[in-house]
Amino acid sequence: MEFIQLKDIILKNNSFVITSHVNPDADAIGSELALYYILKKLGKDVSVINHSETPYNLLFLDKDKVVQKFEFEKHNEVIRKADVLFALDLNQSNRLVKMEKSFVESTGIKVCIDHHQDQGDFADYFFIDTETSATGELIYNFIEQTNIVEIDYEIALQIYAAIMTDTGAFRYNRTTPKVHRIAAHLLELGVNPTFVFDQLYDQSKLSKIKLLGLAVASIEVDSTGKIAYMTITKNMLQETGAIESEVDGFVNFCLSIENVRIGLLFFELKDGLKISFRSKGEIPVNKLAAEFNGGGHTNAAGARLFNVALDEIKQKVIESAKKYLEGEN
Ligand code: 5GP
Ligand code: MN
Repeated sequence: MEFIQLKDIILKNNSFVITSHVNPDADAIGSELALYYILKKLGKDVSVINHSETPYNLLFLDKDKVVQKFEFEKHNEVIRKADVLFALDLNQSNRLVKMEKSFVESTGIKVCIDHHQDQGDFADYFFIDTETSATGELIYNFIEQTNIVEIDYEIALQIYAAIMTDTGAFRYNRTTPKVHRIAAHLLELGVNPTFVFDQLYDQSKLSKIKLLGLAVASIEVDSTGKIAYMTITKNMLQETGAIESEVDGFVNFCLSIENVRIGLLFFELKDGLKISFRSKGEIPVNKLAAEFNGGGHTNAAGARLFNVALDEIKQKVIESAKKYLEGEN
């Protein structure tokens, strides 16, 4: 991937807004903050604004409290007037939800940096590499290729957390030798892997673990034995006192069952339904997700639906999922 143009856009402009997708993960927040620190080193005016609040397990990344939750009255002007708008770790503008309108209507130069498939057309510049493990890896490559700034501990921490999350702590199939070389460099810059893992995954509230219990108990396997699905209802959240963002990662338990190739999570939200899709091997769950207006990667995808009945949609998704098992033994 060639980043000279990106360097040019940054050096020639002064005010920047950085955003990422609804329900941000560490790749979203880490990429945003890595880019924020790059721009600050260059003396730029930068705002980081997201549709969703930052989940509590990612607050350690934002020690300077840079990331703001979008409020139309407060941020619309800033977004409309910025010279450059960055959308990180997403490539379809509907992933910005409430911020989408302000973003697409801004006159600023729109730049998308991402590693997902099925690119939309909302930006002026796309820096997309679907082979990279994380958007954080792209930010690293950008710095290394252009020498725009020196990577310090603060930036290294962000990139490491981004890559750790999107590689499932260095085990998914895009965990390349290059990813390990990058990780090695980041450790040399002072990143402590034990600390990062602990912050990301081992500082849960008890309420989350209680919800996990209910979620795991809800798992069912279909007649083929290859599709497992988990259901989380609004009642379960209420009963345990857990919050929506704490459900991140639960769906993976579906894939830890023997013979299962596709894992699904049906998650009842305050307003609507969220489905998470996971698969092993070559099964393209992003295509399955696309049937329900969603998207993502081959092995991890998602969709949000509104005004649908949970049981009805569950049956539909499971039926559709069966098609994707064909061709597998
Ligand atoms: P998760 O199930 O963890 O929320 O999402 C897994 C992946 O699916 C994310 O990395 C993201 O790429 C994609 N994804 C999740 N929700 C949506 C959605 O509503 N629309 C699209 N296009 N992609 C989604
Ligand atoms: Mn990502």
